[in-house]
Amino acid sequence: MKFNTKTIHGGQHNIDPAYGSVMPPIYQTSTYSQTTPGGHKGFEYSRSANPTRTALENSLASIENGKFGLAFGSGLAAIDAVLKLFKPGDEIISTSDLYGGSYRLFTKIFEGLGLKFHFVGMEESGKIEEFINENTKMIWVETPTNPMMSIIDIEAVSKISKKHKLLLAVDNTFATAYLQQPLDLGADIVMHSATKYLGGHSDVVLGSLVVIDKELADKLYFIQNASGAICGPMDSFLVLRGIKTLHIRMQRHCENGEKIARFLKTHPKVAKVYWPGFEDHPNHEIAKKQMSGFGGMISFTTLEGTLESAVKVVEKLKVFTLAESLGGVESLAGHPASMTHASIPVEEREKTGVVDSLIRLSVGIEDDEDLIDDLKQALG
Ligand SMILES: *Cc1c(COP(=O)(O)O)cnc(C)c1O
Repeated sequence: MKFNTKTIHGGQHNIDPAYGSVMPPIYQTSTYSQTTPGGHKGFEYSRSANPTRTALENSLASIENGKFGLAFGSGLAAIDAVLKLFKPGDEIISTSDLYGGSYRLFTKIFEGLGLKFHFVGMEESGKIEEFINENTKMIWVETPTNPMMSIIDIEAVSKISKKHKLLLAVDNTFATAYLQQPLDLGADIVMHSATKYLGGHSDVVLGSLVVIDKELADKLYFIQNASGAICGPMDSFLVLRGIKTLHIRMQRHCENGEKIARFLKTHPKVAKVYWPGFEDHPNHEIAKKQMSGFGGMISFTTLEGTLESAVKVVEKLKVFTLAESLGGVESLAGHPASMTHASIPVEEREKTGVVDSLIRLSVGIEDDEDLIDDLKQALG
């Protein structure tokens, strides 16, 4: 099955044997009747499994070319489950330019529980090996990075993780399975904030993991059930519905993203534009190799270079909404230094390029001329 068919049908056979409904029903139930103790149809209690969630988990596994999908109450709940694979003393090497909430979970919760994190700029994958020792257990990669849009070579990192017998996890939220399939490139775990492009309509918070290995899937399932950070059936349904149009939405996000990136690049009030589709982007060749398009996420700095100049631009936007999050059909603008990345200390954040004048755009699927006109008036 090809990708555009998988988004609609992948893992979805025999969804409703009772009435043949085309969409899986929203099984809004906590428990299931048994004919005799232990005599049930595969579902006992909805923390352990719920048919609507199972339908979503199968769809996620299908689009990511994995075998096992697990859905959680949020992207961070999914990451939390991965980190619970480890014990005090274990070390994890992570991309340095990272989603702020992931950084907060790593440093404020799991460091306190005894895990150790190394934050490394992974554009040069060779640098990773300097941080590997006998306690290292996992490499955590986010690519494209947030918000600097650097690209990390997943295949090159997977060679290192395999050589040292480490797990490789990739946060695939920005690219989605439509543009990039980390499991095919050697990753062991692919993680999503489905809140973003997979849901696609800014109406749900949900997270997911997909893996190939049965033993790893069993461990993660054990954690999912034991810790209980699952998503509900209604939210599972919404993401399942979102995935069905992922390919056509992503196509438009990419088209609009390119037009806006090229517009910003020539604008006299813009200093620098970060978008992996530019031929002069430092990791453009890797982006071309591992992604089938460059997505709708763009960051840029104002020429003035001040906090005030960036704040003025985002406040003046009318079609773009000033909001956290990304990946919905509507265009959003954010100011990372004061919004998504406020939880990262200023020295850390400026080291990776998240300066006060940086603005991040999640380009939606509206008419591109309206979006460009909006940016023109806000910058002017
Ligand atoms: C939003 C986001 C997360 C966290 O997901 P939630 O669903 O908000 O918990 C993790 N990684 C990336 C790249 C994100 O954009």
